[in-house]
Amino acid sequence: MIRSRFLAVAAAASLPWAGTAQVSPERSRTVSVGSASAGAGTIAYGVLPVPPGRDPGYQIPVTVINGTRAGPRIALVAGLHGAEFAGIVALQKLASALKPDQIAGSVVIIPVANVAGFEQRAARVNPVDGKNMNRFFPGSPVGTQTERASHVLARDVLEQADYVIDYHGGDIDEDQHPYSYWIRSADSRVTESGRQMVAAFGLPYIIEFPLTDLGPGKTNLLPTHAIARGKPTITVDAGRAGTYTDEDIALLVDGTKRTLRRLGMLIDGGPVPLRRQAHVTAQTLNSPATGLFFPAVRRGQRVTKGQTLGRVADFYGKDLATVVAPANAVILYLNATPSAVQGQQLFFIGTPLADEATRPR
Ligand SMILES: [Zn+2]
Repeated sequence: MIRSRFLAVAAAASLPWAGTAQVSPERSRTVSVGSASAGAGTIAYGVLPVPPGRDPGYQIPVTVINGTRAGPRIALVAGLHGAEFAGIVALQKLASALKPDQIAGSVVIIPVANVAGFEQRAARVNPVDGKNMNRFFPGSPVGTQTERASHVLARDVLEQADYVIDYHGGDIDEDQHPYSYWIRSADSRVTESGRQMVAAFGLPYIIEFPLTDLGPGKTNLLPTHAIARGKPTITVDAGRAGTYTDEDIALLVDGTKRTLRRLGMLIDGGPVPLRRQAHVTAQTLNSPATGLFFPAVRRGQRVTKGQTLGRVADFYGKDLATVVAPANAVILYLNATPSAVQGQQLFFIGTPLADEATRPR
């Protein structure tokens, strides 16, 4: 089939592998996401419109940094949970810190996906429809606001990317120690790329997501959806209790740069030293009672099996329940508030894998 040069350019411009098409190299390397359209060697700022439906629409901010040199496309997405501020702040800093002449390929930055959650400081959900945005991928064009936003992100950001980093951590009720997720899948290429990304990022703990957890019905999270679509994806968590420290931001900014270097996308001098990382499996400990929560441990603390982690008391001062460690573990996060509700999370703990010493570093 013979196509005109103009049509070839138009078609190629929207594809991540456009550089291989027989079109003008400069035109073919334009990266467009929503209203942000960046030619090679430039930065563009814009929005991804989430159209109105049964509830209001909104606009998701986006920055596109298109490198001077050709290469893959990575999507950096924060603020699916709008009150997890460390990732949002870190991506805002990266949007102004990364320069096109340092980049091979393109970096698409979504600093805050859940804008209403950010503005209203809502823990875990989008307050417009009460839904957790990290449970509704790939979304729907005819659903509520969370589903429509997830649809736009899946279609225009994740599907067009070669790699994805998903930033979380430090929600209003999470007193958190930095950690990351390595999600393995049946696709060994994606799994190996993910391993290299999470190792390069360098957060102190790597949670290994059990392979069996990525079956049907489990791909509604942003990272599991992206991995199912063949995109190596990691999730990184830092921040605490609705705020963050300078160290949290540095971990996320430096980790992102290390990962970009590992992928051959950032050329900006020498490597940053890596921290020692431990591989763990993780579990949530829910509250056995409703009342006031009094922790006995700190985030990041190593605990031993049977150790008291905290207690729950009623409003009259009587102890209702004690929570103990089910195994030797590290406290990845604990409930940052005195509010304990039966069946809701109090602790998230990581159990070091038996062969930790031999895990890849
Ligand atoms: Zn989150």
